[in-house]
Amino acid sequence: MSYIVNDPDDFAAESTLGFIAAHRGLVRRVNGGVARASATPAGEVAVVIGGGSGHYPAFAGLVGPGLAHAAAMGNVFASPSAQQIYSVARSVATEAGVLFSYGNYAGDALNFDQAQERLRAEGIPTATVRVTDDIYSASLADRAKRRGIAGDLAVFRAAAWASAQGMGLAEVEALAARANERTRSVGVAFSGCTLPGATAPLFTVPDGMMAVGMGIHGEPGIDVVPLPSAGEIADLLVTRLLEERPDDLGDGASARVGVIVNGLGSVKSEELFLLYHSVAGLITQAGLEIVDPEVGEYATSFEMAGVSLTLIWLDDVLEQAWSSPAYAPAYRKGVVDLADRIADENAAEGETAEDDAIQPAATVDAQRAGKDVARALSAIRAMIDREVDELGRLDAIAGDGDHGIGMQRGVRAADAAAQAAADSDAGPGTVLARAGDAWADKAGGTSGALWGLGLRAAAKVLGDATAPDGRTASEAVAAARDAVQTSGKAQIGDKTMVDALVPFAETLAERIAGGDDLATAWEAAAAVSMKAARATADLLPRMGRARPHMEKSLGTPDPGAVSLALAMAAGASAWNDGTTEEKR
Ligand code: ADP
Ligand code: MG
Repeated sequence: MSYIVNDPDDFAAESTLGFIAAHRGLVRRVNGGVARASATPAGEVAVVIGGGSGHYPAFAGLVGPGLAHAAAMGNVFASPSAQQIYSVARSVATEAGVLFSYGNYAGDALNFDQAQERLRAEGIPTATVRVTDDIYSASLADRAKRRGIAGDLAVFRAAAWASAQGMGLAEVEALAARANERTRSVGVAFSGCTLPGATAPLFTVPDGMMAVGMGIHGEPGIDVVPLPSAGEIADLLVTRLLEERPDDLGDGASARVGVIVNGLGSVKSEELFLLYHSVAGLITQAGLEIVDPEVGEYATSFEMAGVSLTLIWLDDVLEQAWSSPAYAPAYRKGVVDLADRIADENAAEGETAEDDAIQPAATVDAQRAGKDVARALSAIRAMIDREVDELGRLDAIAGDGDHGIGMQRGVRAADAAAQAAADSDAGPGTVLARAGDAWADKAGGTSGALWGLGLRAAAKVLGDATAPDGRTASEAVAAARDAVQTSGKAQIGDKTMVDALVPFAETLAERIAGGDDLATAWEAAAAVSMKAARATADLLPRMGRARPHMEKSLGTPDPGAVSLALAMAAGASAWNDGTTEEKR
């Protein structure tokens, strides 16, 4: 648990402010995260990393010469939003472009990809290397689906070194990808962690046991075994890593490896050294030569007890990168010449200007419809506030447990933005678009990005000219469904929110076509959606974070499908709210 906290909602933001104050001169605050204090030299590719907060020194502590140019920082255990990533990248980008690198998690991928599209549309070249070092998170055949853990460091170092050599974007990308291909990690956990302000742990490991392969957000591992001795743990980790030795190393007598022993949070340095002692012996016995070992904390999860071991199978170029100097808040090596750093003129950059002023809708009807939309969002917010723990519980069974808090952050921000827009007499399109932007910006996670996209797509159909009739409302829902499916690529049966959204959209369209008014049609569609959401309990997931642990989710409905159906049910109560009825 966290002992030092004000309002838990502000934990990540307040901690970031303190971090920046403690490292002023090295890093500066930018919208959405932190950047090096000095401007990116002209012609240098900017390496932008990022992810959820709660993993220090990933990611803010790894910003500085020899490491990243900037880090986008999401809320606790939640991906940064596309908007955050975009602003962070903009603040350090040069004409040479931006390399994004981050651990492979569905929410991060979705948000970074959106930011990448926006940058490209503005003519800033970008490329992406997702880190997939965690061997236990998927099979070798499915390497691209593996998650990223402490091996991030090796990939970031390669990218940063290449960019500092003046390489172009394609070369920086290629070297980072090569580092990723040759970096493998395995981890074990002895306890879970409790998020700031929470009263119960997000996940746990039974007393006296060790979870083999458990992820840094508590994603279930492959096995739970009685806690072995340090020597046995070292043996397990090294043996598993040596099974995945890259093929192109020849007889291996001369193979050289970088090594990272990473503590997850509450394993002490002395324990890590003890483990390294055994690990180093085993690696050397296997005929490998260790280069610049790292023993400490590189990717953590609050007070989670656990360790991971990473091997980086070096070649000449990767070795240069791995051994090169660096000077970041949480990672220092060799001697970096800091004298020629140019302070960034934008260093004092504050938050961007508030949203531009809202134009009131032209007609009274449209203004009233804007208020209806805002009321629906308030009803959804109240529903999510009630269900937040249950949604977290559902997500913790096979996912990472953040669905409740992510939805809550998203819907609270969306509700506030919608009320503000409705108070300014905005039409329904503007109210919903503001809500969608706020949702995506604050929620984080896969579902947050998809909700943001869906609401914005629906908003476009609604527009601000008139109050939508039933048909327009149903077309707006269809547009949201299309947006969610186009970006998330999930089909019916993949055990995602799509399983609740598609039947909702279909039933709504059918009922409206059959002559029902919006309130009646909506309620019927919400009931069908809820049934479909419950029925996802029988499905095996094929998308998103839950995928590597398919069987664990059997018997439990998909959290994103349940929250969507609950939201639609809450929305129905808003349309039914007397005042609305007579206008339809
Ligand atoms: P994260 O998976 O990033 O932790 P959340 O926990 O907030 O995000 O949301 C998880 C939910 O997101 C899942 O239950 C599922 O309904 C939905 N989801 C995940 N991936 C997809 C996808 N590709 N398309 C549609 N919905 C998805
Ligand atoms: Mg989740």
